[in-house]
Amino acid sequence: GCGICVHKCPFNAITIVNLPEQLDEDCVHRYGINGFVLYRLPVVKEGMVVGILGPNGTGKTTAVKILSGQLLPNLCGDNDSWDNVIKAFRGNELQTYFERLKNKEIRPVVKPQYVDLIPKAVRGKVRDLLRKADESGRFDEVVKELELENVLDRDIRHLSGGELQRVAIAAALLRNAEFYFFDEPSSYLDIRQRLRIAKIIRKLAESGKNVLAVEHDLAILDYMSDIIHVVYGKPGAYGIFSQPKSTRNGINEFLRGYLRDENVRFRPYEINFSKKSERKSQEGEILVEYPPLVKDYGSFRLEAEGGELYIGEVVGIVGPNGIGKTTFVKMLAGVEKPTEGEIDWSLTVSYKPQYIKTDYEGTVYELLSKIDAGKLMSSFYKSELLNPLGIPELYDKNVNDLSGGELQRVAITACLLRDADLYLLDEPSAHLDVEQRLAVSKAIRSLMAKNEKTALIVEHDVMMVDYLSDRLIVFEGQPGRFGKASKPMGMREGMNRFLASVGVTFRRDPDTGRPRANKEGSVKDREQKERGEYYYT
Ligand code: ADP
Ligand code: ADP
Ligand code: MG
Repeated sequence: GCGICVHKCPFNAITIVNLPEQLDEDCVHRYGINGFVLYRLPVVKEGMVVGILGPNGTGKTTAVKILSGQLLPNLCGDNDSWDNVIKAFRGNELQTYFERLKNKEIRPVVKPQYVDLIPKAVRGKVRDLLRKADESGRFDEVVKELELENVLDRDIRHLSGGELQRVAIAAALLRNAEFYFFDEPSSYLDIRQRLRIAKIIRKLAESGKNVLAVEHDLAILDYMSDIIHVVYGKPGAYGIFSQPKSTRNGINEFLRGYLRDENVRFRPYEINFSKKSERKSQEGEILVEYPPLVKDYGSFRLEAEGGELYIGEVVGIVGPNGIGKTTFVKMLAGVEKPTEGEIDWSLTVSYKPQYIKTDYEGTVYELLSKIDAGKLMSSFYKSELLNPLGIPELYDKNVNDLSGGELQRVAITACLLRDADLYLLDEPSAHLDVEQRLAVSKAIRSLMAKNEKTALIVEHDVMMVDYLSDRLIVFEGQPGRFGKASKPMGMREGMNRFLASVGVTFRRDPDTGRPRANKEGSVKDREQKERGEYYYT
């Protein structure tokens, strides 16, 4: 049954209950008269990692701000004191929490969502910043754990996204606190770094701390959390925190779009990973064959095996940060000239870079119609790309005012609207929530298949790589020094090679088909490593 439907109810003959009005008593915060409304809050538990899973714009960061004392919730009225908040949460697990917060007995520490903003707020060298944060005397240990030795003497302004993320996580870990909030800790990190910080965050909880983490990389959220809350609602309008659930159940209920305990259906369809439309690579027509390529920058050298790309296929590119993925893609695109080997074709390439600049003055519609106004009107592009990515809702917004996730969706759309033979997308999942990641994956697959084009996608989210790719190019080596790129290979071979280099095994969830990382040293982990099967396809 449908239970209570949040959006339009997809089923007939079911009473649609106006949910928010029923939840008045649980109203925590409202931004302005017609602003976003947040209902309920997540729990915080000693010794546990509480994971938060939900779409962008449903109040996850708002909840983090409230629980960390940065935002006094107005209780959807004119509340102006923490005493009233304590009263409102009487009998709830959070009552004592808010009492201690008010009495300054606890000081929560937050790793903020947007690490890109850090250089605007703080100045100076990484070493000085981290020294200042170090209340626990664990400077050396934390720097080593987060592999920050090489950037200690760098100015904050000159860090890459992945380096900023690790500095921000380090600064949080160095504080002496009982409560730690990590808002999207995996952004900009490669898979090995993601697993590494997931382990560090777990260890923090195991040492008796309270940890809460918002995360969109499902494999990482799964690996890191003891329990999770699903947030549902209408992005930008309201959000509701579910009861705490076991990690596996919570994620599966989220994918199904139905919360059992609450009897709420919040999405009319299920997300399932086992149903990817399989494409027989190596059977179609070849787009290009490229020779072995070398790029030598002096301090960094990339060697790539030669290979071929087929028309209609999507090739995932996996490997650590700083290993030459972008360099490789630029050589194929003819933007960088190889040191050895020659690219002598005249392919047209459309490229979405990893870091998107926003110097465009004008609206989203103006930007996109300049690329191809005709496609914006076409029913094919509307149904395959524009509507699934929620682009028409953004048409009137200024490009400069877009949030990180909105800008990402516009940049992906701009890339896919251009006419080209080869599409190159560098980390399309950054800043996107789970449903948006899947919508983007689907759009890329279907456009390549139907338009008979080819795409290369650099991606760190394992679920998305799995969902998107027909084949994989695997990068190995030593980041910042040398990289080796394989030729495109089948998913199974590619995933095995890639995951062996990271040292982690995955299994499939029997209910949803989603990839789940095995705990290190578990029976499954040891058994799969012995057989050399790091991944099930
Ligand atoms: P999430 O972290 O789940 O993406 P947020 O908590 O950041 O969501 O935001 C939820 C909603 O609240 C968004 O629609 C956002 O635009 C709105 N919002 C966030 N901060 C403010 C604010 N200071 N004033 C008004 N609206 C806000
Ligand atoms: P990835 O995309 O895998 O993160 P990149 O291809 O961006 O890696 O970079 C690989 C290495 O090459 C890095 O150490 C980077 O600093 C270096 N590099 C990239 N472009 C240049 C350049 N134009 N000149 C010198 N070094 C470069
Ligand atoms: Mg947020």
